[in-house]
Amino acid sequence: MSRAWNFSAGPAAMPEAVLQQAQAELLEWNGARASVMEISHRGKAFMEMAARVEADLRELLGVPANYKVLFLQGGATQHFAQVPMNIAADGQRADYVVTGHWGEKAASEAALYAAPHIAASSKADGYTSIPEHAHWELDSHSAYVHVTTNETIHGVELRDIPDTGSVPLVADMSSDILSHPLEVSKFGLIYAGAQKNIGPSGLVVMIVREDLLERRPRPLPRIFRYAEQAAANSMLNTPNTWGWYLAGLTFRWLKEQGGLAAMGRHNRAKAELLYAAIDGSGGYYRNRVQPAARSRMNVIFNLRDAALEPVFVAEAEQAGLLALKGHRALGGIRASLYNAVPLEAAQALCGFMSEFARRHG
Ligand code: PMP
Repeated sequence: MSRAWNFSAGPAAMPEAVLQQAQAELLEWNGARASVMEISHRGKAFMEMAARVEADLRELLGVPANYKVLFLQGGATQHFAQVPMNIAADGQRADYVVTGHWGEKAASEAALYAAPHIAASSKADGYTSIPEHAHWELDSHSAYVHVTTNETIHGVELRDIPDTGSVPLVADMSSDILSHPLEVSKFGLIYAGAQKNIGPSGLVVMIVREDLLERRPRPLPRIFRYAEQAAANSMLNTPNTWGWYLAGLTFRWLKEQGGLAAMGRHNRAKAELLYAAIDGSGGYYRNRVQPAARSRMNVIFNLRDAALEPVFVAEAEQAGLLALKGHRALGGIRASLYNAVPLEAAQALCGFMSEFARRHG
């Protein structure tokens, strides 16, 4: 076996202990005489597991009782459209704070069902900062305020969650959910594709305040209506049973690691190490993001000599450091440091970086 350090942005590294448990239980799960993928989602065993998985997530995040937890499909992208479908009226203003590529996409999808208003954007500085709250143009009549708490491509993170008063705050947390403690009560709706900090792709975890489920701005097919999914315990149709199961193993693993406070320390330590290596390289490596906005999940950087970037990626791969190529929209290098990436991986990358600079400097 030759598993390497994996810095993929998503689908991303999963905890090795989770993969090992899934492997051990693959042929027969929980005395079912079949795998978890081969049994009915409506059977007692699966339903009990699903409820346990939800309970573990609620415990990890401290989800208040007036929120529903949904296990959905369609990727975060589907919910860029499905959120306004469910909670904004035709032509109603919805405020978007855009701090990178994914926020831009979310806002543009919303235009079919609402009137997205760019309440603040850091596009002018190339998405290297977070606009100050005081300058967000919010409106008390808006259906919601949308933020992307971590921009996976631009390596920018929203740390201070503002109080948006009576207008619910909606957050795409695809790339930072469960990476540090969170005050769920500040949000009306949280959604996240699973393929970074939770499990395999094809699963979306949503946490939504009950009053938002009462909004009925337009007729919708049942399968698109969050309230219907909530009433059916996310089993309106066949859910992603495999993804749900793996999410559950990850939540157990997170609890064993000491929960989100421990995860927050673990993730900060890795990110600090890597940013220190970049900042201490005398300009050989560069990250343009303002320090207060730097992501702890996705560390992006360039080499002084851009022509060496493909060489860096190829040599890193040979050295056992995978998936460091930046997103095609931005180029450069990106190291994703999700929960399952161990400190040793970040240390190995820093070691490689200094050695590479010495050899190619
Ligand atoms: N939002 C963010 C922050 C993301 O990082 C991504 C994917 N990398 C998406 C949305 C889109 O997710 P999906 O591919 O699950 O639709």
